[in-house]
Amino acid sequence: MIPSVLPTYNRAPLSFVKGEGTWLIEADGRRFLDLGAGIAVNVLGHAHPALVQTLTDQANKLWHTSNLYQIPQQQALADKLVDNSFADTVFFCNSGTEACELVVKMARKYWTEKGHPEKAEIIGFEGSFHGRSSAGIAAAGGEKLTAGFGPLLPGFRHVPWLDLDAVRTAIKPETGAIMVEPIQGEGGIRPTEDGQLKALREICDENGLLLILDEVQCGVGRTGKLFAYEWAGITPDIMMVAKGIGGGFPLGAVLATENAALGMTPGTHGSTYGGNPLGCAVGCTVLDTVADEAFLSEVSRKAGRLRQRLEGLVAAHPDVFASVRGEGLMLGLVCTALNADVLQAGYDAEVITVPAAENVLRILPPLTISDAEIDEAVSRLDAAAKTIEAA
Ligand SMILES: *Cc1c(COP(=O)(O)O)cnc(C)c1O
Repeated sequence: MIPSVLPTYNRAPLSFVKGEGTWLIEADGRRFLDLGAGIAVNVLGHAHPALVQTLTDQANKLWHTSNLYQIPQQQALADKLVDNSFADTVFFCNSGTEACELVVKMARKYWTEKGHPEKAEIIGFEGSFHGRSSAGIAAAGGEKLTAGFGPLLPGFRHVPWLDLDAVRTAIKPETGAIMVEPIQGEGGIRPTEDGQLKALREICDENGLLLILDEVQCGVGRTGKLFAYEWAGITPDIMMVAKGIGGGFPLGAVLATENAALGMTPGTHGSTYGGNPLGCAVGCTVLDTVADEAFLSEVSRKAGRLRQRLEGLVAAHPDVFASVRGEGLMLGLVCTALNADVLQAGYDAEVITVPAAENVLRILPPLTISDAEIDEAVSRLDAAAKTIEAA
């Protein structure tokens, strides 16, 4: 008999009842160190006092009104995002995949307004992840996402990860945009080099294409800058944000330049919940905290510590780990053992990681993780590796 919850997930037999900062407390009382942060979502950890305060204050006033009216919290969050990024304008939604829906529509609308509706095609990269909607799976294109769900939304072409020559050859008269994650998350923490993002920007400029970045996983402080594109010294035309921006409240956003938002006039897009007072109040507190220079430099400092410890871990356990890759607090442990086995051994050692493609375990802790927690987490991963070696 089918379970009452549609069985689309592989769930670990863990049930958390409480969170405190970097810690998750299981129903049986065990305390797990959380290096997953709900897949890069809980950037301020669990039950952060400022977030709890904002959420409860707003909950006592007003949760939802719809976008039929002015929403001051939404306006405030949009202004903060514009002040802190390349963007001139922001649309709020509730998830990464909804952000993907809009970036695809926006690129198509742009070219329609420019008199080139045929330029509806977007070039993307193999191994990408852009969410589970029809546009999201078509944009990413991977067999694991799309199998059984055809016919797929047309208008996407895929090239091997970071193969810039393949990008150049893939550009046709019908190409309108290039879409890329500055660091592939689900694809196995595969970073771009700064030079590669720059080259993609140049390719877009030479061919008059829009550059769309998906920073749903790598954005909001995770790499030690508010947004990962800042490292490359480029700016996109359109960008997807979600996950970390709500700190655990469902919130997504599309950031765009005025130019790229051409034609997105009243009636062209909408979301009932998108940008509601509750979500945007929380988003404001997240952004006020994370966009602070001192906070971001702490992320970079702690990332250095974590990376150094993880390099040591890899060196000590060559039969379990092959290498560390990624940026900031978005790291991947490439495994030599099966990543699923190391994930399980981690659970046994009471440390949470997140699996990804390419036999990688993702390390995506709350950005508020302390030095002591970093050391404790690595010592738990060390214990997990030892049990794999003993098996
Ligand atoms: C998680 C993710 C998405 C989808 O976000 P949802 O909120 O799960 O819909 C899109 N792009 C990237 C890069 C992601 O990591």
